[in-house]
Amino acid sequence: MEKTKVLYEGKAKIVYETDDPEKLIVYFKDDATAGNGEKHGTINGKGAINNEMSAFFFNLLKTHGIQSHFVEKISDREMVVKMLRMIALEVVVRNVAAGSLAKRLGLPEGTPLKTPVLEYDYKNDELGDPLLNRYHIMVLDIARVHELDEIEHIAFSVNQILINFLKAKNIRLIDFKLEFGRDSKDRIVLADEISPDNCRFWDMATNEKLDKDRFRHDMGGVEEAYKEMLHRVTA
Ligand code: ADP
Ligand code: UDP
Repeated sequence: MEKTKVLYEGKAKIVYETDDPEKLIVYFKDDATAGNGEKHGTINGKGAINNEMSAFFFNLLKTHGIQSHFVEKISDREMVVKMLRMIALEVVVRNVAAGSLAKRLGLPEGTPLKTPVLEYDYKNDELGDPLLNRYHIMVLDIARVHELDEIEHIAFSVNQILINFLKAKNIRLIDFKLEFGRDSKDRIVLADEISPDNCRFWDMATNEKLDKDRFRHDMGGVEEAYKEMLHRVTA
Protein backbone atom coordinates (compact mmCIF):
# COMPACT_ATOMS: atom_id res chain seq x y z
CA MET A 1 0.00 0.00 0.00
CA GLU A 2 1.32 3.44 -0.97
CA LYS A 3 0.73 6.80 0.69
CA THR A 4 -0.64 9.20 -1.92
CA LYS A 5 -1.21 12.53 -0.17
CA VAL A 6 -1.57 14.09 3.26
CA LEU A 7 -5.25 14.16 4.14
CA TYR A 8 -4.77 15.89 7.47
CA GLU A 9 -1.93 16.82 9.78
CA GLY A 10 -2.99 17.09 13.41
CA LYS A 11 -1.16 17.79 16.63
CA ALA A 12 0.05 14.23 17.19
CA LYS A 13 -0.47 12.36 13.93
CA ILE A 14 -0.39 12.72 10.15
CA VAL A 15 -3.15 11.01 8.20
CA TYR A 16 -2.36 9.96 4.61
CA GLU A 17 -4.63 8.88 1.80
CA THR A 18 -3.47 5.71 0.05
CA ASP A 19 -3.94 3.95 -3.26
CA ASP A 20 -6.80 2.07 -1.57
CA PRO A 21 -9.74 4.53 -1.40
CA GLU A 22 -11.09 2.89 1.77
CA LYS A 23 -7.83 2.87 3.75
CA LEU A 24 -5.64 5.50 5.37
CA ILE A 25 -2.15 5.36 6.81
CA VAL A 26 -1.74 7.07 10.18
CA TYR A 27 1.77 8.25 11.10
CA PHE A 28 2.39 8.85 14.84
CA LYS A 29 4.61 11.87 15.61
CA ASP A 30 6.65 12.66 18.72
CA ASP A 31 5.00 16.12 18.91
CA ALA A 32 2.99 16.84 22.02
CA THR A 33 0.64 19.70 22.85
CA ALA A 34 -1.37 20.55 25.94
CA GLY A 35 -3.79 23.22 27.15
CA ASN A 36 -5.62 23.50 23.81
CA GLY A 37 -2.35 23.84 21.92
CA GLU A 38 -0.78 26.52 24.16
CA LYS A 39 2.06 24.24 25.27
CA HIS A 40 4.16 22.55 22.58
CA GLY A 41 6.94 20.01 22.97
CA THR A 42 8.44 16.74 21.89
CA ILE A 43 8.30 13.43 23.71
CA ASN A 44 11.12 11.35 22.24
CA GLY A 45 9.94 7.94 21.05
CA LYS A 46 6.27 8.71 21.77
CA GLY A 47 5.11 8.12 18.19
CA ALA A 48 6.42 4.57 18.11
CA ILE A 49 5.05 3.80 21.59
CA ASN A 50 1.58 5.18 20.85
CA ASN A 51 1.45 3.30 17.54
CA GLU A 52 2.40 0.01 19.20
CA MET A 53 0.12 0.50 22.22
CA SER A 54 -2.86 1.53 20.08
CA ALA A 55 -2.36 -1.50 17.83
CA PHE A 56 -2.19 -3.69 20.93
CA PHE A 57 -5.37 -2.25 22.48
CA PHE A 58 -7.35 -2.33 19.21
CA ASN A 59 -6.41 -6.01 18.86
CA LEU A 60 -7.38 -6.67 22.49
CA LEU A 61 -10.77 -4.98 21.96
CA LYS A 62 -11.32 -7.03 18.81
CA THR A 63 -10.93 -10.25 20.82
CA HIS A 64 -13.78 -8.89 23.00
CA GLY A 65 -15.99 -8.20 19.97
CA ILE A 66 -15.34 -4.46 19.61
CA GLN A 67 -14.58 -3.45 16.05
CA SER A 68 -12.31 -0.47 15.37
CA HIS A 69 -10.73 1.31 12.42
CA PHE A 70 -7.45 -0.60 12.99
CA VAL A 71 -6.32 -2.82 10.10
CA GLU A 72 -2.61 -3.45 10.68
CA LYS A 73 0.62 -1.95 11.97
CA ILE A 74 3.02 -1.55 9.04
CA SER A 75 6.04 0.14 10.64
CA ASP A 76 7.29 1.56 13.93
CA ARG A 77 5.20 4.69 13.56
CA GLU A 78 2.53 3.75 11.04
CA MET A 79 -0.72 1.82 10.99
CA VAL A 80 -3.29 1.21 8.27
CA VAL A 81 -6.84 2.13 9.29
CA LYS A 82 -10.26 2.16 7.65
CA MET A 83 -11.20 5.59 6.39
CA LEU A 84 -14.12 6.95 8.36
CA ARG A 85 -16.22 10.11 8.34
CA MET A 86 -15.23 11.34 11.77
CA ILE A 87 -17.76 12.55 14.31
CA ALA A 88 -16.54 15.81 15.86
CA LEU A 89 -16.76 14.56 19.45
CA GLU A 90 -14.22 13.65 22.09
CA VAL A 91 -15.92 10.96 24.15
CA VAL A 92 -14.41 10.94 27.63
CA VAL A 93 -15.01 8.13 30.14
CA ARG A 94 -13.92 8.63 33.75
CA ASN A 95 -13.58 6.30 36.72
CA VAL A 96 -11.68 8.60 39.08
CA ALA A 97 -11.77 12.41 39.36
CA ALA A 98 -8.83 14.11 37.62
CA GLY A 99 -8.09 16.98 35.26
CA SER A 100 -11.00 19.12 34.14
CA LEU A 101 -13.64 17.08 36.03
CA ALA A 102 -11.85 17.48 39.37
CA LYS A 103 -11.71 21.22 38.71
CA ARG A 104 -15.30 21.59 37.48
CA LEU A 105 -16.93 19.57 40.28
CA GLY A 106 -14.51 20.60 43.04
CA LEU A 107 -13.53 16.99 43.73
CA PRO A 108 -10.00 16.27 44.94
CA GLU A 109 -7.95 14.53 42.23
CA GLY A 110 -8.02 10.79 42.89
CA THR A 111 -11.60 10.66 44.22
CA PRO A 112 -13.16 7.40 42.93
CA LEU A 113 -16.43 8.10 41.11
CA LYS A 114 -19.55 6.20 42.29
CA THR A 115 -20.38 5.41 38.67
CA PRO A 116 -18.31 5.81 35.52
CA VAL A 117 -18.96 9.26 34.01
CA LEU A 118 -19.24 9.84 30.24
CA GLU A 119 -18.77 13.30 28.79
CA TYR A 120 -18.76 14.76 25.31
CA ASP A 121 -16.41 17.53 24.23
CA TYR A 122 -16.95 19.28 20.89
CA LYS A 123 -13.79 18.61 18.84
CA ASN A 124 -13.39 22.21 17.76
CA ASP A 125 -10.07 23.99 18.39
CA GLU A 126 -11.49 27.47 17.73
CA LEU A 127 -14.06 27.04 20.50
CA GLY A 128 -11.55 25.32 22.82
CA ASP A 129 -13.31 21.91 22.79
CA PRO A 130 -16.33 22.89 24.96
CA LEU A 131 -18.30 20.35 26.99
CA LEU A 132 -21.53 19.30 25.22
CA ASN A 133 -24.62 17.41 26.27
CA ARG A 134 -26.97 15.42 24.03
CA TYR A 135 -29.17 18.46 23.38
CA HIS A 136 -26.18 20.51 22.19
CA ILE A 137 -25.17 17.62 19.95
CA MET A 138 -28.68 17.56 18.41
CA VAL A 139 -28.72 21.33 17.89
CA LEU A 140 -25.31 21.25 16.20
CA ASP A 141 -26.32 18.20 14.12
CA ILE A 142 -23.15 16.34 15.15
CA ALA A 143 -24.77 12.94 15.69
CA ARG A 144 -28.19 11.28 16.02
CA VAL A 145 -29.64 9.91 19.26
CA HIS A 146 -29.30 6.28 18.17
CA GLU A 147 -25.65 6.96 17.26
CA LEU A 148 -24.98 8.38 20.73
CA ASP A 149 -26.60 5.29 22.26
CA GLU A 150 -24.20 3.13 20.24
CA ILE A 151 -21.20 5.32 21.09
CA GLU A 152 -21.99 5.16 24.81
CA HIS A 153 -22.47 1.39 24.69
CA ILE A 154 -19.08 0.93 23.01
CA ALA A 155 -17.33 3.47 25.28
CA PHE A 156 -18.53 1.78 28.50
CA SER A 157 -17.60 -1.65 27.12
CA VAL A 158 -14.10 -0.38 26.26
CA ASN A 159 -13.87 0.98 29.81
CA GLN A 160 -14.66 -2.41 31.40
CA ILE A 161 -12.31 -4.32 29.09
CA LEU A 162 -9.43 -1.91 29.72
CA ILE A 163 -10.04 -1.73 33.50
CA ASN A 164 -9.89 -5.53 33.76
CA PHE A 165 -6.86 -5.86 31.51
CA LEU A 166 -4.91 -3.06 33.22
CA LYS A 167 -5.70 -4.29 36.73
CA ALA A 168 -3.54 -7.34 36.01
CA LYS A 169 -0.73 -4.95 35.03
CA ASN A 170 -1.06 -2.98 38.28
CA ILE A 171 -2.48 0.03 36.48
CA ARG A 172 -5.57 2.05 37.44
CA LEU A 173 -7.50 3.41 34.49
CA ILE A 174 -8.43 6.92 35.67
CA ASP A 175 -10.03 8.25 32.47
CA PHE A 176 -9.63 8.26 28.69
CA LYS A 177 -10.86 9.90 25.48
CA LEU A 178 -12.19 8.05 22.44
CA GLU A 179 -13.15 9.20 18.96
CA PHE A 180 -15.65 7.58 16.62
CA GLY A 181 -16.50 7.75 12.93
CA ARG A 182 -19.03 6.41 10.45
CA ASP A 183 -18.07 3.77 7.89
CA SER A 184 -19.44 3.50 4.34
CA LYS A 185 -22.55 1.77 5.71
CA ASP A 186 -23.05 4.47 8.38
CA ARG A 187 -22.02 2.09 11.15
CA ILE A 188 -20.37 3.66 14.20
CA VAL A 189 -16.72 2.58 14.45
CA LEU A 190 -14.13 3.27 17.15
CA ALA A 191 -11.16 5.25 15.73
CA ASP A 192 -8.10 7.36 16.52
CA GLU A 193 -5.75 5.94 19.21
CA ILE A 194 -5.54 4.48 22.72
CA SER A 195 -2.31 5.54 24.38
CA PRO A 196 -0.84 7.56 27.27
CA ASP A 197 -1.66 10.67 25.18
CA ASN A 198 -5.39 10.17 25.61
CA CYS A 199 -5.66 8.02 28.74
CA ARG A 200 -4.73 8.63 32.37
CA PHE A 201 -2.88 5.63 33.79
CA TRP A 202 -1.78 5.52 37.44
CA ASP A 203 0.34 2.88 39.15
CA MET A 204 -2.02 0.83 41.36
CA ALA A 205 0.26 0.86 44.40
CA THR A 206 1.82 4.35 44.33
CA ASN A 207 -0.61 6.39 42.14
CA GLU A 208 2.43 7.44 40.11
CA LYS A 209 1.22 9.03 36.85
CA LEU A 210 2.26 7.06 33.75
CA ASP A 211 0.74 9.28 31.06
CA LYS A 212 0.72 12.67 29.37
CA ASP A 213 -0.03 14.51 32.64
CA ARG A 214 3.74 14.31 33.26
CA PHE A 215 4.19 16.50 30.15
CA ARG A 216 1.14 18.70 30.87
CA HIS A 217 2.40 19.53 34.36
CA ASP A 218 6.19 19.50 33.71
CA MET A 219 6.71 16.62 36.11
CA GLY A 220 9.74 15.14 34.33
CA GLY A 221 10.19 11.45 33.51
CA VAL A 222 7.81 11.73 30.55
CA GLU A 223 9.65 9.39 28.13
CA GLU A 224 10.26 6.90 30.96
CA ALA A 225 6.55 6.85 31.83
CA TYR A 226 5.51 6.12 28.22
CA LYS A 227 8.13 3.34 28.01
CA GLU A 228 7.03 1.86 31.32
CA MET A 229 3.38 1.81 30.19
CA LEU A 230 4.23 0.06 26.92
CA HIS A 231 6.36 -2.45 28.81
CA ARG A 232 3.58 -3.22 31.30
CA VAL A 233 0.87 -3.45 28.65
CA THR A 234 2.79 -5.73 26.28
CA ALA A 235 4.83 -7.77 28.81
P1 ADP B 1 -5.91 16.43 16.34
O1 ADP B 1 -6.83 16.54 15.17
O2 ADP B 1 -6.68 16.43 17.64
O3 ADP B 1 -4.77 17.38 16.32
P2 ADP B 1 -4.24 14.06 15.67
O4 ADP B 1 -2.95 14.75 15.48
O5 ADP B 1 -4.28 12.85 16.51
O6 ADP B 1 -5.38 14.94 16.35
O7 ADP B 1 -4.80 13.79 14.24
C1 ADP B 1 -5.43 12.64 13.85
C2 ADP B 1 -6.73 13.01 13.15
O8 ADP B 1 -7.21 11.89 12.43
C3 ADP B 1 -7.82 13.41 14.14
O9 ADP B 1 -8.45 14.58 13.70
C4 ADP B 1 -8.80 12.23 14.11
O10 ADP B 1 -10.12 12.65 14.33
C5 ADP B 1 -8.59 11.71 12.69
N1 ADP B 1 -8.86 10.27 12.52
C6 ADP B 1 -8.59 9.27 13.39
N2 ADP B 1 -8.98 8.07 12.89
C7 ADP B 1 -9.50 8.32 11.65
C8 ADP B 1 -10.09 7.50 10.64
N3 ADP B 1 -10.18 6.16 10.78
N4 ADP B 1 -10.55 8.09 9.51
C9 ADP B 1 -10.44 9.46 9.35
N5 ADP B 1 -9.89 10.28 10.26
C10 ADP B 1 -9.42 9.73 11.41
N1 UDP C 1 -8.06 14.11 26.57
C1 UDP C 1 -7.57 13.97 25.28
N2 UDP C 1 -7.59 15.04 24.43
C2 UDP C 1 -8.06 16.25 24.80
C3 UDP C 1 -8.56 16.40 26.12
C4 UDP C 1 -8.54 15.32 26.97
O1 UDP C 1 -7.15 12.88 24.91
O2 UDP C 1 -8.06 17.18 23.98
C5 UDP C 1 -8.07 12.97 27.50
C6 UDP C 1 -7.09 13.14 28.65
O3 UDP C 1 -5.87 12.51 28.36
C7 UDP C 1 -7.80 12.42 29.78
C8 UDP C 1 -9.29 12.57 29.45
O4 UDP C 1 -9.35 12.89 28.08
O5 UDP C 1 -7.47 11.04 29.76
C9 UDP C 1 -9.99 13.63 30.27
O6 UDP C 1 -9.29 14.83 30.13
P1 UDP C 1 -9.69 16.18 30.87
O7 UDP C 1 -10.99 16.65 30.35
O8 UDP C 1 -9.55 16.00 32.33
O9 UDP C 1 -8.58 17.09 30.27
P2 UDP C 1 -7.59 18.16 30.79
O10 UDP C 1 -8.45 19.39 30.83
O11 UDP C 1 -7.06 17.74 32.11
O12 UDP C 1 -6.59 18.13 29.68
